[in-house]
Amino acid sequence: MTRDAEDISDSFWRIRRTESWPPRGQVQLPISPSLISVLRRCPLQAIFRASGADAYPSRVSPRARIGTAVHRTIEVLEKRRGELQSRSPREIRAMAVDLFRESLAAGKVQAAHRPREARLTWPDELIRQSEVQLAVAAVKIVHSSDSSATTPSQKSLVVVEGMLASPDGFLRGKPDRIESVGYGTVIVDYKTGSLTDPERLAEYREQCLFYAWLWHATHREWPIEMRIVNPIPSEEHIEAIDVQEVIDHVADARARLTQVASMSIAESACIGKHCAYCSFRPWCEPWWAAEDKIAKSDLSDEPQSFEAVVRLIECWDEPTGRKGHAHMETSGGALTIQFSRDEFPHLAMAIPGDVLRILDARLVPGRASSWYLTTWSEVYTVVP
Ligand code: SF4
Repeated sequence: MTRDAEDISDSFWRIRRTESWPPRGQVQLPISPSLISVLRRCPLQAIFRASGADAYPSRVSPRARIGTAVHRTIEVLEKRRGELQSRSPREIRAMAVDLFRESLAAGKVQAAHRPREARLTWPDELIRQSEVQLAVAAVKIVHSSDSSATTPSQKSLVVVEGMLASPDGFLRGKPDRIESVGYGTVIVDYKTGSLTDPERLAEYREQCLFYAWLWHATHREWPIEMRIVNPIPSEEHIEAIDVQEVIDHVADARARLTQVASMSIAESACIGKHCAYCSFRPWCEPWWAAEDKIAKSDLSDEPQSFEAVVRLIECWDEPTGRKGHAHMETSGGALTIQFSRDEFPHLAMAIPGDVLRILDARLVPGRASSWYLTTWSEVYTVVP
């Protein structure tokens, strides 16, 4: 197969290693509670994020976009809660579904324009379930009383989605709601991840601790309680806030930031299971260098990623679509990738000698060296 130089020079699916590595961004103050979580997990991921989406376009999964649409719907319901309380449950449910669909439609348009997301399939059943559960949750959100206030006079202040910024310029963040009720101030944060997952809950808790610190830094008052709420499927975590824990967490975050600032790029890479969900894998040289991915592949039915040199591309047409086989060589031996040319046209354009990064291929059952690509897989050509 021959290829015009234009075909690859304009390709989105190309990594020019001398330009893409190392990432040149710097983590800037003020930082957000979610960025602190990223810094703890892998400082290099935070550096990629700080380097800009033009250089390193992120990839948002349809599930994450559905979660965002749920969260946006809740935000609007929260903001309009007072006004909506005179509406019937039926009207509130209908409004919640409309808001969700509108937000989801915007997310789908955005995804359709992003090459890393355009091919991904959307889980229709999850969307349908989200609509049903959100409709039920919407009525509860609108008609719920603020925390445990028993009389209107106990509600002295409700701040919905207010941005909090510490005067020292270290931290800023936006909790979903702060309620100042009769017995003290409560932080309410809505989440769409499961609260029964201990790792997620720990992350959500930590974010609330930072919001507590921000509230104290801006209002000279310590919140007494955090409420983490996942309205779908109606999970809630309520916990008293331990001021010493808040202070310790912020001190730890400051120390972490100082530590990260003095790290080399190589030291900032923290490789682990979390890498499987990292948007920056295509460009992360330490990750590609760290693993003999093929050696592990036949022990697992998890998706695998590897760098390989093209030996031969075979193409043919079938009634079900345009097919291809890429015969490749890795450090662990020869392998074949089965793929759809409709979904991966740039792989069909590869020529012998090209170096490719294949992300998230799956092993063909019963075949030790044959792999296939799914809609979630990605293929990049690596050039110096
Ligand atoms: S792939 Fe892993 S090591 Fe590389 S930036 Fe992402 S999380 Fe960090």
